[in-house]
Amino acid sequence: MSVLERLDLVRERSGAAGKGGAFATTGRVLTVVSPIDGSTIGRVRLAEAADLERVVRDAAAAFETFRTMPAPRRGEIVRQIGEVLRAHKDDLGELVSLEVGKIRSEGLGEVQEAIDMADLCVGMSRQLCGLSMHSERPGHRMTEQWHPLGIVAVITAFNFPCAVWAWNALVALIAGDAVIWKPSLKAPLTAIATHELCERVLAAHGLSGLLGLVIGDDAVVGEALIRDERVPLVSATGSCRMGRHVNAVVGGRLARTLLELGGNNAILVHRDADLDLALRAVCFGAVGTAGQRCTTTRRLFVHRDVAGPFIDRLVGAYRTLPIGDPLQEGTLVGPLIDAGAVAQFEAAVAKAVAQGGAVLAGGKRLDRPGFYVAPTLIRLRHDAPIVADETFAPILYVDVYDDLDSAIAWQNEVRQGLSSAIFTDSVRAAEAFLSVRGSDCGIANVNIGTSGAEIGGAIGGEKETGGGREAGSDSWKAYMRRQTVTVNYTSSLPLAQGVRFDVG
Ligand code: NAD
Repeated sequence: MSVLERLDLVRERSGAAGKGGAFATTGRVLTVVSPIDGSTIGRVRLAEAADLERVVRDAAAAFETFRTMPAPRRGEIVRQIGEVLRAHKDDLGELVSLEVGKIRSEGLGEVQEAIDMADLCVGMSRQLCGLSMHSERPGHRMTEQWHPLGIVAVITAFNFPCAVWAWNALVALIAGDAVIWKPSLKAPLTAIATHELCERVLAAHGLSGLLGLVIGDDAVVGEALIRDERVPLVSATGSCRMGRHVNAVVGGRLARTLLELGGNNAILVHRDADLDLALRAVCFGAVGTAGQRCTTTRRLFVHRDVAGPFIDRLVGAYRTLPIGDPLQEGTLVGPLIDAGAVAQFEAAVAKAVAQGGAVLAGGKRLDRPGFYVAPTLIRLRHDAPIVADETFAPILYVDVYDDLDSAIAWQNEVRQGLSSAIFTDSVRAAEAFLSVRGSDCGIANVNIGTSGAEIGGAIGGEKETGGGREAGSDSWKAYMRRQTVTVNYTSSLPLAQGVRFDVG
């Protein structure tokens, strides 16, 4: 039995689900194609505005009950969601591979990330702490408390079709919010399967509809969702282009956004680096997930003292990378998501060459069913215009530097600010990279590549990456509203700052 049959996803599915399950009935039907071989793996009837309206109403109704539930009890529900994900990890992981082309261990890793988020959130549900401050007025107590926000819209990119939802939705749940998920049309089946598993848990607690799902065209349900005044927070993961638009629309109604947008991440290999370590990290960072991670390594700056041998070894490694069916044992590089991504890859390679680049490895699409390209290494100046763009494909631009300050400046010169790394055995070089004049990114690593972040820390980046932070640390605060509370337990009414206003 195939994974689609086990998860019961072979028949036509509905792209909207709120209380009582799936109910989109009139929208157009989307055919879902696997990037592995271009075959059809499912059909989804897309949601329309009326479906979204039902999902929003169901979420609003469920929120009324849910917000009064103590946070540790909300955590218990998230624990049960983690258990159901654990029980279906293999199937869900395989579905991720089938739908977006990740190699098996990465598909499984993605579901593990969602399970890890559930575990983290169970603990967090007992730690939604506010501060207490000393009042300047005698007999007064001043504290902060945190309340749920309401309905949180979670818009996800195709490349993490389960984990990014978990970074948001599970934190939002312990915060006491309802969630409406709008996944990418490039990965609807993983969303449907994940949603249905969660819905089973929620229904058992009488909370059906608390997690809504709406799969539809951006111009129809996407736009309606971000414009909906019942939605106080829109958390959106995707391209900078999308983020700019969502920010303008949601900001226009003075609601909140949490943006996780594109990256253009660099690794610096310093002259004293452990080159074995650096080689493995650069390969995983640049070609893992076929270059389709927000944290993918897209730029490599190597110190001149080690550049020759290091780049030679990298070219050798690129020539032997096993590319092919991501579900087959031993494959390290799977396909791109679709034909459009292949076309963008080819256009970027052509531009890089036109801008003076020398292709050291790859550079071509592969002639086989599905959407495969050869991982590509291009020697190119750090300031060539194409280097400033995030092309969502396995293209790595390499340049050589003489001094660390210049390399750090090159690392910081792009518009995006997500992830960064240095390989060095020198404390001075590492600390310079981490200092206030060092990397300007949301993630800065030493002797670890740019991708593969752990959920315990906050994930996100600066500049055009959008400034949002999700997953661990104190990211939960984005999903709650802060209330400053001052209690006067005396019979006098002193005013702050010594103001006098004696009446009567
Ligand atoms: P995309 O911008 O094309 O789409 C992302 C999501 O936005 C999709 O669900 C899409 O339907 C939705 N969307 C687009 N226009 C919308 C609108 N007008 N209203 C509402 N929703 C709208 O991105 P993609 O190709 O799916 O993903 C790749 C991008 O995501 C890359 O830039 C990558 O770096 C980024 N990404 C960032 C992070 C991060 O944590 N920073 C994580 C994963 C992916």
